[in-house]
Amino acid sequence: MIVVKTREEIELMRESALVVSRTLGEIASIVKPGITTLQLDKIAEECIRDQGAIPGFLGLYDFPNTLCMSPNEQVVHGIPNNTPLVEGDIISIDCGAIKNDFYGDHAYTFPIGEIAPETQKLLQITKESLYVGIREFKLGNRVGDVGYAIQKYCEDQGYGVVRELVGHGLGRKMHEDPEMPNYGKRGRGKKFIEGQVVAIEPMINLGTHRIKQHRDGWTITTLDKKPSAHFEHDVAILDGKPELLSTFAYIYKALGIESNEEDEFRKEAFVL
Ligand code: MG
Ligand code: MG
Repeated sequence: MIVVKTREEIELMRESALVVSRTLGEIASIVKPGITTLQLDKIAEECIRDQGAIPGFLGLYDFPNTLCMSPNEQVVHGIPNNTPLVEGDIISIDCGAIKNDFYGDHAYTFPIGEIAPETQKLLQITKESLYVGIREFKLGNRVGDVGYAIQKYCEDQGYGVVRELVGHGLGRKMHEDPEMPNYGKRGRGKKFIEGQVVAIEPMINLGTHRIKQHRDGWTITTLDKKPSAHFEHDVAILDGKPELLSTFAYIYKALGIESNEEDEFRKEAFVL
C-alpha cells in the first residue's frame, strides 16, 4: 500500500533528505586517496547527529555502520573498513538519516582522483539516467515508465542494469511501497499518485547486469568484477510533477562543479 504524504509531511521529508545531502557534501570535501571508508563513516555519523538526526542505516536490518560504502566492483551495501581509497577508485556512498520520524536516503558515486575514461562515462550516464527516470515520475505514469526509461538509457550505452536491487517508496519507513525497479515496461505497474515519495536509484554496471552476494551477508559485487555506479535522489509528486527533496548541490559546492541539472525538478531554485 502506498502511504501518501501531506504537504507538511513532504516538507519534513525534505528536511530529512537535506540532512543526507549535507552529509554527502561534507564527505565530498574529504574523500580522497589515503582516507579509509571507516574514517568517512565516523565523520558522516557525527555530521548526521550534529543536525539533530539519527543515522538511518545503522542497525537497520542489523547493518553495522552509518554509510554503505561500495568501491569499484561493489554495487551497493558495502561495509566500511580500514582499506585506504586509492587514486583511480570509484566509491558509491549511500547514506540514510531519520529526522522528525522520516527517512532521507540518497547516494552518489565519487571518483577518487583521476579515473579511467570508461569509468568516468559510466558515472556520467548513470547519473543522467537518474534524471531520465525522475522525469517519468509524475501523475499519469506508472512504475514501469520510470524503470523503462532508466533501462533504455543505460542499455543503449551497453551497460548492465541490476535487477535484484530496486528503488522504493520512502517515509516513516525506509522501504515502503512501491518497489521502483530500474527496468520495466511502459504503462505497467502501479499508478503514481499525488503526495507519494520515492527513492529512485539506478545501480548500473559497466559490464554484465549480473551480481553476486558475498558471505558477509551484505556486500554485492558485479559478477564480472567490472565497476558499478549508484546515484539516488528522494522525489515527491507535488502538483502532479516530480519535486526533488534531496540535492547534490552540497557535493558540487565541495567539488567545485557547476550544474543546473536539478532545476527542472524544483518549484523554487535551491539555495545553499
Ligand atoms: Mg540509499
Ligand atoms: Mg534507497
